[in-house]
Amino acid sequence: MKAMVLRETLPVEQEPLRMEGLPDPVPGPQEILVRVSVCGICHTELDEIEGRLQPKLPVVLGHQVVGKVAALGPEAKRFHLGDRVGIAWIYSACGKCRFCQRGDENLCSDFKGTGCHVNGGYAQYMVISEDYAYLIPERFSDSHAAPLLCAGAIGYRDLMLSGVKKSQTLGLFGFGASAHIVIQVAKYWGCEVFVFTRGEEHQTLARRLGASWVGGPQDQPPQKLHCAIDFTPVGETVPNALELLEKGGRLVMAVIRKRNPIPPLDYSKHLWDEKEIKSVANITRKDAEAFLSLAAEIPIVPEVQKFELAEANQALILLKQGKIQGSGVLVINP
Ligand SMILES: [Zn+2]
Ligand SMILES: [Zn+2]
Repeated sequence: MKAMVLRETLPVEQEPLRMEGLPDPVPGPQEILVRVSVCGICHTELDEIEGRLQPKLPVVLGHQVVGKVAALGPEAKRFHLGDRVGIAWIYSACGKCRFCQRGDENLCSDFKGTGCHVNGGYAQYMVISEDYAYLIPERFSDSHAAPLLCAGAIGYRDLMLSGVKKSQTLGLFGFGASAHIVIQVAKYWGCEVFVFTRGEEHQTLARRLGASWVGGPQDQPPQKLHCAIDFTPVGETVPNALELLEKGGRLVMAVIRKRNPIPPLDYSKHLWDEKEIKSVANITRKDAEAFLSLAAEIPIVPEVQKFELAEANQALILLKQGKIQGSGVLVINP
């Protein structure tokens, strides 16, 4: 099969992904072989490529995978050949530890990330345990379904952890793949959404998707924020967002790694009055499943920009530059 392979961590501008021929993967007893139709691109892949997050090397990246079941391991019986399935960031967890037992498999010490600890979807085929794949609701095309699997599912987890309630104000810092899906859910739940983003195109998209106020990263919104979600890769957003929080408000940090340090916090300005900060680690299968059905019910319509598999480096460079509207998707086996 053809795959875009990362062999060493480098700045993405040096185009470190190379098209290679790899043996087709063979499904183990309870695994399925998936013929990949499309795979979304994600900021986490920039962290892997540039070494802020350490992948196994060499690795095939990609954790927003939509494809068809092409073969079944001898003991796999959850799906049929030809079923359309999705694969998300959670590739596996141990199932036995105290985190897994209480449903927090995202915190498992043996958590394996798709396209990080094991090969992912920047390839024509991949294998995964049948327990970690999800049927894709029919109403979504392949490329509309892919961004739901990370940008959407993790965004949904961010939103749940923010604790935002109907008619409260939610601040979204950064307006890329995840935020443009989160706003659609928050509006559906009856929240008022304020968006802080630099790019003019991102601002236009935010307005079109129902933001009641849109401004730059330093601008003052008309009201304090009950909750905020920080999707930006920069540390400076954290004090900015904390300052705008209402008393007792919570800031959720959605990115796995920041590109630069968080500046020192001023206790009285940023944390006093019971303000909270919470990070988000990985996702559970429940998040992915619950979000896919919610997305179909709303329905979520992701904005997608399509690329060929061979253009993965260029697509990721555009992502780093903030030049992708909505979500970038690699079309592999259309
Ligand atoms: Zn992701
Ligand atoms: Zn575990």
